[in-house]
Amino acid sequence: MLIIRSSQIHAAGCYTTEPIKKRSRIVEYTGPRISKDEADKKYQDSPTTYLFGVGDGSKVIDGHGIAMFINHSCDPNCETGEVRGHVWIKALRDIEAGEELTYDYNLYDGDDDEALCNCGAPTCRGSMYSHDELKRRARAAKRAAAKKLAKKTKAK
Ligand SMILES: [Zn+2]
Repeated sequence: MLIIRSSQIHAAGCYTTEPIKKRSRIVEYTGPRISKDEADKKYQDSPTTYLFGVGDGSKVIDGHGIAMFINHSCDPNCETGEVRGHVWIKALRDIEAGEELTYDYNLYDGDDDEALCNCGAPTCRGSMYSHDELKRRARAAKRAAAKKLAKKTKAK
């Protein structure tokens, strides 16, 4: 059984009361499917969202159910997988009773939100963004800094 209780990582988390075998499907990420544009409009002023991109990313699941409480970790015990349009949380390894379930959010497309990570794993990358997204952001920041510098030089 899965339960929701307060978590060291962030607010509330999802815990298992029973051991879970590696590779088993644990729970589906459920909720209404809406378009990405609809989601952007709906949550533009909201600090927390529970959206999960499916397919080519033009549709998202507007999280509603136990899976939306699963926190991010950079050293997770679960992963997500899409099977015929359904998103499942699956065990990456054997999980003991009482453990908090986590998966790597690998966020992308988050505007100016820093999405800092507090997972506490030794391998924590300090952010819930994916490695690729972090690289992209670092490049964008460098470009922005270079642009600023160019402007300053011109002004002289
Ligand atoms: Zn982390």
